[in-house]
Amino acid sequence: MKILCIGRNYAAHAAELGNAVPEEPVVFCKPDSALLGKNLPFVVPSFSQDIHHELEVVLRIGKVGKHIEPRFAHKYIDAVTVGLDFTARDLQSELKSKGLPWEKAKGFDGSAVVGAWKSPDVLDGSDLEFSLLKNGQSVQLGRVRDMIHSPAQIIAHLSRYFTLKTGDLIFTGTPAGVGPVVPGDHLEGFLADDRVFSVNVR
Ligand code: MG
Repeated sequence: MKILCIGRNYAAHAAELGNAVPEEPVVFCKPDSALLGKNLPFVVPSFSQDIHHELEVVLRIGKVGKHIEPRFAHKYIDAVTVGLDFTARDLQSELKSKGLPWEKAKGFDGSAVVGAWKSPDVLDGSDLEFSLLKNGQSVQLGRVRDMIHSPAQIIAHLSRYFTLKTGDLIFTGTPAGVGPVVPGDHLEGFLADDRVFSVNVR
C-alpha cells in the first residue's frame, strides 16, 4: 500500500504559505509506516518545533489502474474520508530552501491520520464540506469544489506515473487554515456532519 499526496490544491492555502498556484498537481509520498494507528495519540517528534495540522479529503483506491481517464476515475475510488497530513513545517522550510525532497518533513511516523471510511457517493455534486476542530474551535473548513485539481483529475494525473493499486490512499491537499499543534491539543475531523476522527496530541 502506498500513500500519495497532493500539495497546493487550494488557492487560499497556496497563498497563506507564499507559494504559487501550480498548473500541474504537486505530488509527494508518505511511506506506509506514516499511518497513525487507530485510537493512538499523535506524538510530536523530537526533530521539529513546528508541527502543523493539514486537514485533507482522503480517497481510497478500490482496484488496479494505470493511465486512468478523468471520466472513469470515479470507478477507482471505493471509499472517502478526511485525514491529517501532519507536517514538520520548520523542517519542510529548511528542505525547500535547499531544493531537497520533503519526505522527512511529511512522511515521519504517525504523520498520516485517516478517518472512518464513507461511501464515495459523498463526492457526488462536489458540494462536500469538511472541517477540523482544535480544542473545540473550528480551525479549517474546506469545500471539495474549491480544489484546483478535482479528485478525478488527481487520479488521472497520478496514474500516468504510478500504477494505482487496491488499498492505496490519496491525500488531496489542504485548504487554508493550517497551523501548529502542541502536546495537549485535541483534534477532531468532520466529513460533512460526521465526526470521522479524533486525535490527542502528546
Ligand atoms: Mg498536505
